[in-house]
Order: sequence, then C-alpha cells, then structure tokens
Amino acid sequence: MSKKERKRAMVVMKFGGTSVRDVDAVRRVVEIVGREKRPRVVVVSALAGVTDGLLDIAGQVESGEGTAAQDAVRGLRRRHEEMAPLVRDPEQKAALLAEFDDRFDELEAIVHALAVVEEVSPRSRDTIVSFGELTSSRIVAAALEDAGIPSRAVDPRTVLVTNGEHGSAQPDLEATDARLLEKVKPLLDQDIVPVLGGFVGASTAGLTTTLGRGGSDYSAALFGAGLGAEEIQIWTDVDGMLTADPRMVPGTRVVPHLSFDEAAELAYFGAKVLHPSTILPAVRRDIPVRILNSHRPEAPGTRITRSPAPGVAGPTAIACKRGQTRLDIASTRMLEAYGFLRRVFEVFERYRTSIDVVTTSEVSVSVTIDDRRALDAIVADLSEFSEVSSEDGMAIVCAVGDGLRRDPSLATRMLGALEGLPLVMVSQGGSRQNITAVVRDGDTASAMERLHRRFFETGDSTPASA
Ligand code: ASP
Ligand code: MG
Repeated sequence: MSKKERKRAMVVMKFGGTSVRDVDAVRRVVEIVGREKRPRVVVVSALAGVTDGLLDIAGQVESGEGTAAQDAVRGLRRRHEEMAPLVRDPEQKAALLAEFDDRFDELEAIVHALAVVEEVSPRSRDTIVSFGELTSSRIVAAALEDAGIPSRAVDPRTVLVTNGEHGSAQPDLEATDARLLEKVKPLLDQDIVPVLGGFVGASTAGLTTTLGRGGSDYSAALFGAGLGAEEIQIWTDVDGMLTADPRMVPGTRVVPHLSFDEAAELAYFGAKVLHPSTILPAVRRDIPVRILNSHRPEAPGTRITRSPAPGVAGPTAIACKRGQTRLDIASTRMLEAYGFLRRVFEVFERYRTSIDVVTTSEVSVSVTIDDRRALDAIVADLSEFSEVSSEDGMAIVCAVGDGLRRDPSLATRMLGALEGLPLVMVSQGGSRQNITAVVRDGDTASAMERLHRRFFETGDSTPASA
C-alpha cells in the first residue's frame, strides 16, 4: 500500500451545547477547529437549552397548549437568527437566514398539524427535536466557511443509520460505517471539514430518529470509530474529569488519564461529563477519547484510553451516589438455604429494580437500590421467605481506580480515612476497580472530604501525566 492510499490520521471534534450556545461560543469553536491541523470531522449538539425547548414544545402540543408551543417556536427562531452575525459575507448570511426561515416554517407547520390532534407520537417527537442539531450544525459549518475554513454541513440522517426505536434508537454500525465512507470521507479527502449534528439519525425506513438524551457523544464515538479516527475530542465547558465532585469536595483536580473502565465506573456514580455507553464504539476500536474545555483550549484535559495509565498507585477519583435505600434480607430457613440468593434477586428482577451494592453473610444479604418505586411490593414478596427491613437516606461513596488492583493496602487505608463514621456496608469488588462504602446520607460530604484529603492531598496517589 502506498503512502497516499494509507488512511490519513484524522480526528473527531465534538462540541456540546454550551460550546455552541451563542455567537462568542461558536467563535471559540471556529478558533479551535482552525488550530487543529489534522483532517477533522466536527460533531455538534444543539445550542444549549434548545433540545429541552423542543421537548417542551412537544409537551405543550400534547397538552393542548398549541398557542404557547407556537410562541416557543418563534422564540427558537429568533434565538437561531441571533447567530447570523457569525457570517459576514452578505450572500452567505442571506442563504443561512433563508434556510432558517424554511426550517422554522416547517417546524411551525408540524406543530400546527400536531396541535390539531393534541398528540405527539415518538416518531413526531424525534422529528421535532432533530431541529436542534440540524440547525446548529448548519450554523457551525457557515461560521467555519466564513473564517476561511472550507466546511460543509452534512445531514446526519444521511449517515447515521439506526433501527426504528424512536427516542432511543440503536445504530446499525455496519450501515453507518458504509455511509461514513460514502458521505463523509470524500469531504475529508478534499480538505473540507464535514459538520454533523450529533444525536440525530434515520431509520432504515428513512424516518428521523434520535439516540437518546446526550446522544451527541455517542454520535461522535460512532463516527470516530467508523472513520478510524486517531482521537475523539469531546469539547465541553469543564477541564475534564475531576478527582471528585467539586460541589462537594474542595481542592479537586483534573484527572489527566483514565481508563475506559474507570470512566464507566465514575459515570455510573454520577460524574456528569461523559456517559460510558456513549464511548463504547471508541472502546471497541481502541480510540482514545479526550475531554477538553472550549473555554481553555490550552488545558490538557482528560484522556481516556482502553488501557489504564501505567504506574498509577491509589484511586483515580472518588465518587458518591446519594438517595439510596438499603434492604436487609435475612433467610428464615437459616442453614442449608441454597437458592436463597437466587430467590432474593428474582424479586428485584420481577420489579425491574436494579441493585447497586450487595454484601452477604451466611444467612443474610444487604443490598442498596435507588429506585424506590416498587419498594413496597419488593418487601412484600421478600417477606414470603425472609425477614426484611429497609432504610432510606443512604449514600454510596466509592474510590475508583485500576491502581486499586495493584495495591492491597488501599481498602485498609480507605477505611482508615473513614474511621469514626458509621459504615453501613462495605464492599470490595472482585475486579477491585472500586472499593465501596455505604454511609448515612448526612455523612456523605464528610466521607468524601476525608477520602479526598487522604488520597489526593497527601501524596498518597499520583495521577499519571497525560
Ligand atoms: N442535544 C441533545 C441533548 O441535549 C444531544 C446532546 O447534546 O448530546 O440531549
Ligand atoms: Mg452532552
């Protein structure tokens, strides 16, 4: 294979809603994209708040507030028109405004039609919410062009092929990969920056679909995987993944390097930056994902790769999850009660309630759940063969890190840091990627502060450099 034929290194740059919220934000995006010298595909979210606004419109239509819905559409139209100053060329600006006119006329017509029947099917809802990304991508492409960066908005419905599950559509990887090669790759080869709205796709039947809230990261990972990107950049408004939630713990810092597994664990515990399932396509193809701050593009951010950072001792971050309920379930049969755990877990399965932490002893098992909707029924069913007590107001605190595998003393040190706080449950997983303690909710802040001090402010853990 000649050098020319070999795949050129390229990157996917995804910008979230806050990174395209207004004219100034998009100007920053243009600068960031301009500074990147590798071929790049840009993926954008809707302007901040627009997806919520569109969902509200669908809700208003359903509840017979057609007039309010039309007002809201007009508001969104103005909001997008305010972005026009990004384009200085009068002809291009006129073209952009004309396109907005068409789009928002269309949205108005849809809202009008649906308001008559006061019903919004999942399929119509997807059509409505897709307007956010379809317009934002057009704006960013126009702004790039205006800045002298050849660029083209590519309708994601011609690229991202999904099944017909509206609102949480599943991508068809093979078909999407083929479309990427057909629709996106040729632009890269001509040094044109393709700009695609994230989150939006189309079913094989040709209907507009969406991937579910926050789906733009998923789109970015899918596109990066399909095009063989050497990196997927997720541009947001924070510096990266932090050692803990800064609203809860003082003195947090950015984690320079995370493994995919650690990121998944942290996201599960409520780290808002990135959802694990969204980067799965990148994990599978071993493509690093970087979280970067569009307000501070020079900051190194957090790099997420498949393999753990080498040589990191101690946890990578700590996290917590509040609002937990603990159930204690003791077998009434006592000895030889095999099958007990199966019966216990079957009850939770029956009520589609997932369990977070489990600890067991010979005759009893304790679990935590955060979905209390079926609690009464669960307790009733469990009571048929066990003694059950439950208690609300619990929190899970946990230390996450691949380094935990390597250092057997960490659990002891973690418990040492929590000394004096009543621990309700303690669990160390088989993979030993996290050590978890359940405390009373009122003790959460104190537990988190102590853990952070112990692991990140005393030189006990040295995060690797990116
Ligand atoms: N705009 C969509 C949302 O707000 C998708 C995304 O931004 O990731 O959920
Ligand atoms: Mg997002």
